[in-house]
Amino acid sequence: MNSNFESTRGKKIQCSASQAVIKGIANDGGLFVRRDMDILKINISDLKNKKYTEIAEIIISKILDDYPKESIKYCVENAYDKKFSSDDITPLVKVGNDYVLELFHGPTSAFKDMALSILPYLSTEALKLNEIKEKILILTATSGDTGKAALEGFKNIDGIKILVFFPNDGVSKVQKKQMVSQEGNNTYVYAINGNFDDAQSEVKKIFTNEEIREKLKEKNYSLSSANSINIGRLVPQIVYYFYSYMKLAEMNEITLGEKVNFTVPTGNFGDILAGYYAELMGLPVNKLICASNENNVLYDFIKTGTYDRNRPFHKTLSPSMDILISSNLERLIYHLSGSNNEYIKSLMDKLKSEGKYSVSDEIKNSIDNLFYAGYTKGLQTSETIKKVYGEYNYLLDTHTAVAYSVMEEFKQKDPHHKNIVLATASPYKFSKAVYESLFGENNADEFKIMELLNEKTRVPIPENLKTLKDKKDIHTSVINKEDMKNCFEVIL
Ligand SMILES: *Cc1c(COP(=O)(O)O)cnc(C)c1O
Repeated sequence: MNSNFESTRGKKIQCSASQAVIKGIANDGGLFVRRDMDILKINISDLKNKKYTEIAEIIISKILDDYPKESIKYCVENAYDKKFSSDDITPLVKVGNDYVLELFHGPTSAFKDMALSILPYLSTEALKLNEIKEKILILTATSGDTGKAALEGFKNIDGIKILVFFPNDGVSKVQKKQMVSQEGNNTYVYAINGNFDDAQSEVKKIFTNEEIREKLKEKNYSLSSANSINIGRLVPQIVYYFYSYMKLAEMNEITLGEKVNFTVPTGNFGDILAGYYAELMGLPVNKLICASNENNVLYDFIKTGTYDRNRPFHKTLSPSMDILISSNLERLIYHLSGSNNEYIKSLMDKLKSEGKYSVSDEIKNSIDNLFYAGYTKGLQTSETIKKVYGEYNYLLDTHTAVAYSVMEEFKQKDPHHKNIVLATASPYKFSKAVYESLFGENNADEFKIMELLNEKTRVPIPENLKTLKDKKDIHTSVINKEDMKNCFEVIL
């Protein structure tokens, strides 16, 4: 067996790709990383004229290297099919002189579908590959979009149960309705009193709790994660960076090899980390631009080299980015430190005890070379939605608007490179905020506003959202975060 993956926090924990996908997070609390990411080069001219699924096969099998190639092909073809409302899977749309990469054409209208439509296949293939007879309990904290996408991806899959926790007051009405109305014989959803960070921290604690692991084992279950702490979530996200780049080249907007900028609306640092991985694998990237909302902990980190979560938590128009502990940053620093696990462990211990840490000057310099950061406040987000709609007749969701605004700011500094903005949600997932940005306050219920937005803009409502309001609420429990660990009793 090859063991190309290890925990960011210690070399003692090593495993294969498929084992990392099953485990989700390492027992020492670290995240699984592929040690030699920087030598896995893709020759972009090999990707010319390839379909999304073909590029996906090439990239995913390169990294998840203990899966047989046919197995990855099977996973990819089942994941990226008619569930997506566009044949391109991720259409690249020209808006003014820039490009918007639409990642929201999957079954739940958010970019989380990009990874969560394939993760269930990668997980079941991994169980077969390792001849594991245990069942899997997927444990997931969500800021709104992961939960629904994971539930949809894993519903009714034999041998797997999925449990989702979301912050009761931290998600949009549409997001909440999507989750509480979830069907499937293996799905469990709880609202918690607390924010996303509370949910995520508690989930991480459960993962490292020996007693719970033993209890689960007695019932023949082991835990896994559908959050972007799972490497199986990140790898499929690398694909659309390559795909959109190849599209730009195909459209003769760039010559092959020319560098471009990607602006990414960021929360847990998963999406943008996939961009970093793409760059490591040889994608010509000028800057990865990290866009935050008022919870601008990453902006401060990229500017100063100090990560400090000791600050007020803001509820914003872009709730899926309302995060103060961006888990995947740990992976970036691991790679930039030259796989120095001890160092990562010391930083993460500091984060836990003091809520902050600073990286070395050397790491800070490497970050400066590739990353730029900006953030956008609520009013600016609304103004961006209004401006882009007015000028280009293009409807942005609130998360994408944050990124678009930061992209525009960066263009002042760098007018030369082509820009791709990652669009992470359908505007209809955040209808109220989008509608009010364009047409002023409206107190109708969110589903009514969805219809109004459609009447005024004529942008089609995605099918899954159109039928949502008539769905029955199935999962209605609200619990305290201390009780999250007791949910297993009910489920197993
Ligand atoms: C999850 C999410 C993000 C943030 O992505 P990360 O990988 O957590 O950085 C941005 N926008 C939307 C709509 C999301 O659902």
